[in-house]
Amino acid sequence: MTALARQHLVQPWPVAGEIGAEARGGIRSGEGIYVIDGEGRKLIDGPAGMWCVNAGHRRKELADVLYEQAMELSYNSPWYTMNEPSVTLSARLAGHAPGDLSHVFYTTGGSSAVETALRFMQFANNVRGRPEKKLIVSRQGGYHGSTYLSASLNGRPRDHDWMDSASDQVIKLTCPNPFRRPAGMDEAQFCDMLVEEFRDVIANRGAERIGAFIAEPVMASGGVIVPPYGYLSRMRALCSENDILFIADEVVTAFGRLGSVFASQEVFGIEPDMITFAKGVTSGYFPLGGVMISAQLLEDLRRSNHSEAMFAHGLTYSSHPIGCAVALKNLDILEGGLLAHARDVSDYFQSSLKRLEELPLVGEVRGLGLMACIECVADRVSNNPLTLDLEVGKRIDAHCQELGLLVRPLINMCVMSPPLTIERPQIDTMTDILHTSIRRTMD
Ligand code: PMP
Repeated sequence: MTALARQHLVQPWPVAGEIGAEARGGIRSGEGIYVIDGEGRKLIDGPAGMWCVNAGHRRKELADVLYEQAMELSYNSPWYTMNEPSVTLSARLAGHAPGDLSHVFYTTGGSSAVETALRFMQFANNVRGRPEKKLIVSRQGGYHGSTYLSASLNGRPRDHDWMDSASDQVIKLTCPNPFRRPAGMDEAQFCDMLVEEFRDVIANRGAERIGAFIAEPVMASGGVIVPPYGYLSRMRALCSENDILFIADEVVTAFGRLGSVFASQEVFGIEPDMITFAKGVTSGYFPLGGVMISAQLLEDLRRSNHSEAMFAHGLTYSSHPIGCAVALKNLDILEGGLLAHARDVSDYFQSSLKRLEELPLVGEVRGLGLMACIECVADRVSNNPLTLDLEVGKRIDAHCQELGLLVRPLINMCVMSPPLTIERPQIDTMTDILHTSIRRTMD
């Protein structure tokens, strides 16, 4: 891959050409938990691509199914016909989804899943005769996508403050990050504060104007933030009391990352009104996403077909037969042992990385399942990240790459979410590389 040829490719964000460009721009192949760069160097794929290569690289059974489905039926229009893999996959997903989430609408990724969920919310509210119930509540630190409305939900102002965004329609609550809770507050008091904030928002803005609350069960790109105990169920209860739809954005947490197909109920004991998913559904072998909805919501959307404002929503590649066939095989892999393996190694993964807290630069190592974040601080008394060299994540990443590990740097944090196939000795290697890299960064 020549530098000249690379000039023609536009990549997201300032990553390409800045940090780790040699390895990142030049990844040539993958094998299990590893990727191999243009010079033949093998690196552990610490972020599993982008939280997605859950079953690992070069899985022959996934590649085979991709080819076989393309030879059988490579495309059909979801507007007029159904294809078999999408029908079979829907039934399998309904079997895993919590509560009454028995129906699936497929999209091409996470952003389109979030947009779809919000369009469903608005259409359903129109049909129910309350079109003004359209405000959306999200959280600081959350991430929901790169399209116009989904980006407006994101907790990072730079994602949307430069555009004439849909921000008027969005209310942002405090990030439920126990590490950054106000001084003098314990975790239970912090949880009370967060729930009260939502209650106040509902009281002040009016339940009749708020359509949905959207939340990642564990915030991923915001720095792997596991909310305080009881937070999600109490927010769920507030939504139910006020007829606000609870949308669980499981684009990262579904398909094994937390040891379950969907995490909302199995891990957190809540039943959302909609679940958005993408990424791990195909382990990154084909772009696919979707929204799980209830029969009741579907009924409301269909009812609108008989009203003046007919509901029509679809993407050319909704229910893509190749994506659905790959997702089915990926589910076989998850159910056939990978979920159990992810559950089996996750405590070891968390406790191994926790060792990094012995380094003075590390303020906290936190996580759940096979997702973790190392947050660096200026000093351990203030835990203040602001006076830190903002490039610290990138510098750790650069050292890690030299030693054979890719991580995802986020300003003063590094995020880890390896393929679920990772074994204990590989976790040890990953932690050792991070330890050395953080020490080198401190020198
Ligand atoms: N929701 C969450 C929680 C995500 O992490 C992401 C992507 N990182 C998205 C939505 C958007 O997904 P996509 O990039 O596939 O559009």
